[in-house]
Amino acid sequence: MNARRRRRLADFGFLALLCVCALLAWAGFEYHFSRVLEDVRTAHEQVLQRDTRHLNTHIGHLLRNVDLNLISLGRAIDADAPSPEWTSRLESVIQHIPYLRSLSVVAADGTVIASTTPENRGTALRLDSYHPPDRTRGDILQIGPPHAGRDLADARPADDSLTPTPDLGFVPIARSFRPGNAPPVALLATLDLDYLERILDDFRTTHGDRISLFRLDGIRLLDTATADTALQQLEQALALRWQAGETAGMQTLDGEQGHLLVSYQLNERLPFAVVISSALDEALAGAYAESRSSALIFLPLSLLGLGCTLAAYLYFRRAGQHERSLRHRAEARRHLLESALNASATAVVITGTDARIEWANPAFTTLTGYGLSEAVGRMPKELVRSGQQSREFYESMWRTILSGAVWRGELVNRRKDGSLYDEALTITPVRDEQGTLTHFIAIKEDITATRAARKDLQAAYARLQTVVDHFPGAVIMEDMQGQITLLNDKVFDLMNMPRPPGNLAGASIKSLTLAAGKLSLDPTTFAQRLDMLRERAQTVYGEELAHRDGRWIERDFIPIRSTGSTDALLGFLRVYRDVSARKQQEKALWLLATTDPLTGVRNRRAFLDKVDAELVRVRRYRNNAALMMLDLDYFKRVNDLHGHAAGDAMLCHVVTLAHSLLRASDLIGRLGGEEFAILLPATGLAGALELAERLRSTLENTPLVYQNRDIGATTSIGVSLMQADDSNAEMILARADSALYAAKHNGRNRVEQA
Ligand code: GH3
Ligand code: MG
Ligand code: MG
Repeated sequence: MNARRRRRLADFGFLALLCVCALLAWAGFEYHFSRVLEDVRTAHEQVLQRDTRHLNTHIGHLLRNVDLNLISLGRAIDADAPSPEWTSRLESVIQHIPYLRSLSVVAADGTVIASTTPENRGTALRLDSYHPPDRTRGDILQIGPPHAGRDLADARPADDSLTPTPDLGFVPIARSFRPGNAPPVALLATLDLDYLERILDDFRTTHGDRISLFRLDGIRLLDTATADTALQQLEQALALRWQAGETAGMQTLDGEQGHLLVSYQLNERLPFAVVISSALDEALAGAYAESRSSALIFLPLSLLGLGCTLAAYLYFRRAGQHERSLRHRAEARRHLLESALNASATAVVITGTDARIEWANPAFTTLTGYGLSEAVGRMPKELVRSGQQSREFYESMWRTILSGAVWRGELVNRRKDGSLYDEALTITPVRDEQGTLTHFIAIKEDITATRAARKDLQAAYARLQTVVDHFPGAVIMEDMQGQITLLNDKVFDLMNMPRPPGNLAGASIKSLTLAAGKLSLDPTTFAQRLDMLRERAQTVYGEELAHRDGRWIERDFIPIRSTGSTDALLGFLRVYRDVSARKQQEKALWLLATTDPLTGVRNRRAFLDKVDAELVRVRRYRNNAALMMLDLDYFKRVNDLHGHAAGDAMLCHVVTLAHSLLRASDLIGRLGGEEFAILLPATGLAGALELAERLRSTLENTPLVYQNRDIGATTSIGVSLMQADDSNAEMILARADSALYAAKHNGRNRVEQA
């Protein structure tokens, strides 16, 4: 059975229990209420019985008192025969008995002889309807039927109907006497029913019931209320029982108005019975009301109790669930961690503070060859110690871990099969919440291969360093963090600075770059360029850097990438070479290519390049620029008269004179033979003509002093302005040439413009 099902069963069980409790509580309440009803009913019965008894006794006393007075009067009969004179005697008795209407003497034939009520005299009575009927005994009190009317004289038979006895009414009570052998005489008292009813009412008002007074033969003497048919039938049945000898009892009855409790009691001495019928429902109404109000309190209280119990159950159920879920989570986490440790390729060993193994993962078995069952309870040193480490090694280790610090180290251990292996060991002390040392966790890693690889790596590094040291150039390698990984001493030779002491690998490259930058002509550009190359990881070969000291340094910048699939950037390699000598050669070659070796001015090609460049400026900025062309006059003669060397000297002389007149921005070129051209940037025609004229006259007036001889010379000059629509330098040159031709043609030693 799974946990979920178990929990459902528990919930169901609890609910069932709750229902059972509720049912039990309700049953208990019902039982209690039925008991209360029973008790109330019993108490009511008892009260009813007692009231019946008391009323019976009370009425009995009342009749007995009448009887005693009749007996007392009867004693006089023997001495004094009854006669109308008895009236005063009767009156003296009746004045002490308030509940009698009259006292009378009745002759044997039933005629009233004397009476306290004068109208009664002569009234004929039927004493045979009295009960008990046997008058012959003479010592018993007889009760007559009830009558309506004030007294014997106006007596009418009472209507034995369902209605109560009318207000004016009486019951005659008689006692017979037989004086000597004379015919019997009866003394008769008329009992005031109105008075009796008040007595009954006193009882009735106590519990609002119906009280009836019966003669023993079932004749109703008095009622306090109307009786329904069922009750009347019962009363008749009771009369039969009384005659059969039953003296008292209690009976329930389903009346027309509800349940009735009927109590009856015969008088022990006199022939009457008292019947009290009580409305049971009314008597129990209080108990029912009490039960209802109890239920009103009990029900909400029970519901509250059940609700509280249910709430408490749900609360504890939830708390239990929460705790279970925490436990499950903790358990799952523990399982996960253990699985992780079991899956780990690194050996993990947990020992107690006594250094005995408590747990190890499968990687420990793989590493050492010892299974978990072999290892647990033993010390690692008993299993794997190789003897390759000194005693001090272990002492230092124990000092560290016992102080609570983590120990890391490498050592050589022995496997179960006897083979040795290199191990990287980390021991972490574990403390409990009180800070007491409880365990050590050892993490063991087989580094045999790593160590071998490290040796290989060291060898490879040494080889690389050798290559780099003997490389014809300064080599510097940095990683992505800007740390030097490799460099050779030529770096410092190139920078004309001594090599700092120690191993520079791992040091920041910044200071070195800064020092190198300072050597360059433009340190800012130097640094920015390097940053840019690093950022773009760009490969650049042969980048030339000019040094302040005139040297030229060539730089290769090469990003280093890892080989294989990753292609990750590892750092940058820079190689510097001093190329000053090569630069000088290049410069010499350039000069050779662009300079006239005799005069040192630009040759035709180089000069035309300059004119082309100026033409671009003229076009772009609409600048003025002029070009003049010179051809020495009759130069052949100089050669002829003074020799070729003198001719050469004259050419140099012309150039020197021209330089002395030109601005720095003006440019002179030798177009060939004894022909020169001069480019005059930012010069108008007037300025150009003026300069040409000055040049012409200066040459004319300044002979060459050669071997102590003055050799004079003149020149013809053609001047032309550069035009924006000139397509190239040749075009301008051709225009200036035509002006020059004109100058020759017009007599030489003059200036012409085109
Ligand atoms: P013109 O006034 O018509 O120019 O007469 P010219 O004698 O100068 O005639 P042209 O320009 O034709 O002659 C050029 C001469 O210049 C020919 C050559 O002997 C001489 N010459 C050319 N190049 C050199 C040089 O490099 N050195 C010397 N010494 N003479 C040169
Ligand atoms: Mg010439
Ligand atoms: Mg010439």
